[in-house]
Amino acid sequence: METQTFKNLSSRPRTNNPNRIVVHHTGGTDKYPLADTSHHTAKIIEKWHLSKPGWIGIGYHYVIHKDGTVWKGRPEHVHGAHAKARNNESIGICLSGNFDLTLPTKEQEDALRTLMLDIKSRYTIEDIEPHRATANKTCYGNNLSEDWARNLVAEEVNILLKDATLYQVVIRLMQLLPK
Ligand SMILES: [Zn+2]
Repeated sequence: METQTFKNLSSRPRTNNPNRIVVHHTGGTDKYPLADTSHHTAKIIEKWHLSKPGWIGIGYHYVIHKDGTVWKGRPEHVHGAHAKARNNESIGICLSGNFDLTLPTKEQEDALRTLMLDIKSRYTIEDIEPHRATANKTCYGNNLSEDWARNLVAEEVNILLKDATLYQVVIRLMQLLPK
C-alpha cells in the first residue's frame, strides 16, 4: 500500500543513504502519553505530519498497522523526518500502537521482520535501533527492550540454523549479508 507522500516524492533526488533502521511506535499524544493509538493509520499520520509547517509528507518510510499491513511512506531514497540524528542515514519504520501501554501484534512483528530482512538485503545496515537510542523519548515504547527489533532479525537466523536444510541456510544468509 502506498501513501500520497510516496507518489509525490518518488521522483526526488537521493537525500538518504541508509546505514541503519530506526523503529518507532505511534505512542501517546502530548496531552495523554498513555493514549491508545492502535487505530492510527498511515493516512492519519500523513495528514498530521502534513499539517506541520514545512513538512513535505509523512515522516516515516514505512508504517505497519495492527493487522500487519505495510504502508509505504516516504520513498527510501528520500530523507526521513522521524529521528533528528538519523534522518539522512536511516529507514524509519513506525508501528501503530502505544507500546508504553500494549505490545505489537504477532502480525506486526512478522511484517516488521520481513520488511527489515528485505531492507538489510539492499543496504549495509549497521544497526537496528529504537528511536529512543538518539532521542529523549520512550519510543518504541517501554514495554519493548532495546534489543527487541534487533532480535526479530537475529531470531530468523536462529530458526534457520535449527530447522532449515543447509541449502536454505546458505541462500538466506546470502540475502542477509550486506551487498
Ligand atoms: Zn519515534
